[in-house]
Amino acid sequence: MKPIEEYVVSIPDFPEKGIIFRDITGILQDAEGLHLAIDLMEEKLAGLDFDVIVGPEARGFIFAMPLAYNLHKSLAAVRKKGKLPRETISVKYDLEYGTAEVEMHKDAVKPGQKVVIVDDLMATGGTLEAIVKMVEELGGEVVKIVCLMELAGLNGREKLDGYDVDAVISYP
Ligand code: IMP
Repeated sequence: MKPIEEYVVSIPDFPEKGIIFRDITGILQDAEGLHLAIDLMEEKLAGLDFDVIVGPEARGFIFAMPLAYNLHKSLAAVRKKGKLPRETISVKYDLEYGTAEVEMHKDAVKPGQKVVIVDDLMATGGTLEAIVKMVEELGGEVVKIVCLMELAGLNGREKLDGYDVDAVISYP
């Protein structure tokens, strides 16, 4: 079987000059790649005691959902501002390119719940930091953060100091 790294296509200068975009669609378009990605992320959660998986749209959903299903956990959605219909909390943050604001329903995480955050990729760590803030504001405890990929050179882990952050593939 091919290693997972070989399914990722790296595109220079997208969406802006100087950025190497790591594209997950090569993984998703191949049944073996897709299975491998989910299995490798699931291995990171082996034996962990937790209640709920929190994942952001859009690419975070792709990985958060099968993990929640396989591990029989609930899924709490993080969405871009203005999409959720009920009472929300929100956090504004800086992206590797631009700014964003994300939201969660106020009842998406219950006080005392143990939370795993799942995303496709950690770049600057801003998205994950924003999600951590919302989860903690709701009274949840972040017990692990799992990404398929991390861009280690952007130092996302510094923003998430003290949290258990794990990635299947790490790019320098
Ligand atoms: P951060 O907030 O800077 O860590 O950015 C993380 C978000 O940006 C992730 O949820 C990704 O969806 C997206 N992102 C940033 N760089 C890349 C990339 O090279 N490939 C795919 N997604 C990326």
